[in-house]
Amino acid sequence: MIIVMKPGVTDQDVEHLVERLRELGLQSQISTGEERTVVGVIGDDRILQNQPLTVFPGVESVTPVLAPWKLVSREFQKHDSVIDVNGVKVGGTKIAIMAGPCAVEKKELTVGIAKEVSSAGASILRGGAYKPRTSPYSFQGLGQEGLDYLVEARKQTGLPVVSEILDARDLGHFLEKADIIQIGARNMQNFELLKEVGDYDKPVLLKRGLSATIKELLLSAEYLMSRGNRNVMLCERGIRTFETQYRNTLDLTAVPTLKEMTHLPVIVDPSHATGKWNLVAPMAKAAIACGADGLLIEVHSNPECALCDGEESLKPSRFRDLMASLKLIAQAVGRDL
Ligand code: PEP
Ligand code: MN
Repeated sequence: MIIVMKPGVTDQDVEHLVERLRELGLQSQISTGEERTVVGVIGDDRILQNQPLTVFPGVESVTPVLAPWKLVSREFQKHDSVIDVNGVKVGGTKIAIMAGPCAVEKKELTVGIAKEVSSAGASILRGGAYKPRTSPYSFQGLGQEGLDYLVEARKQTGLPVVSEILDARDLGHFLEKADIIQIGARNMQNFELLKEVGDYDKPVLLKRGLSATIKELLLSAEYLMSRGNRNVMLCERGIRTFETQYRNTLDLTAVPTLKEMTHLPVIVDPSHATGKWNLVAPMAKAAIACGADGLLIEVHSNPECALCDGEESLKPSRFRDLMASLKLIAQAVGRDL
């Protein structure tokens, strides 16, 4: 951390600051220039994150050198993390496609969609059993019964399943039945939930909050990892901007940015990012082209009657066509699909 002192700062002010840093267990290096005095803090300055150093007399600015996260950072781990999801690897050369309905509906429908996405080449089945709906009058999901249908679909197709948790009280069911626990955009900063899920090593798909910054996303991932869970995947799913033409704005710049900052796999969700099925394929292609490690895509055999997000769901035939074109893009960027 670099602390720049105001012009004309007194020796007492500098000593007062240095004394406080010493109390916090940090060494200081003082450089006195012609116009400015600068205090360099030596040691792990993350403990200063919550210290109000700018209120000390004579302090002009405080610039951290280390990022406020550790375990998620590229400095901590140079190589890409590869998460093993029941035998399916996420984060290696092979791109992981997670596909399925927004919400788990009837058993036969869920199993049918699972078979369709599996035969088209998806490696993981998605499906929400607990749905975080904006309106209390919208379909809220089948709950535990929905998780059981996913288990049945896994039994019949061999696809591991990802499903969203809303409440830590259901964690036991998710640990037993899901292969990846999804923490959705609305819960990205539910810190108590992050801590609870972080206590297990079950793979987690952490989605970026509706208006969360990259830093906030990484700090939420750090919550999970600091509790011991190292199987964390990040998901860019669009952020809220002034644009209302589509559901969200897909921030694809986040993909190469995250890949530079963290070793964790980065998944892109073009379905929730756009909210329109016709925009899903172009954005899915762009996501692979810019380095995403996987995609989360909503597929429904009858979008017109879907209980949730039919407008952004691909029919199986369209999903199949998309998979064929994604293969070519993956090849062009040195990945497999
Ligand atoms: C979902 O994937 O089902 C979902 C609700 O997504 P998000 O949390 O990104 O809105
Ligand atoms: Mn959805």
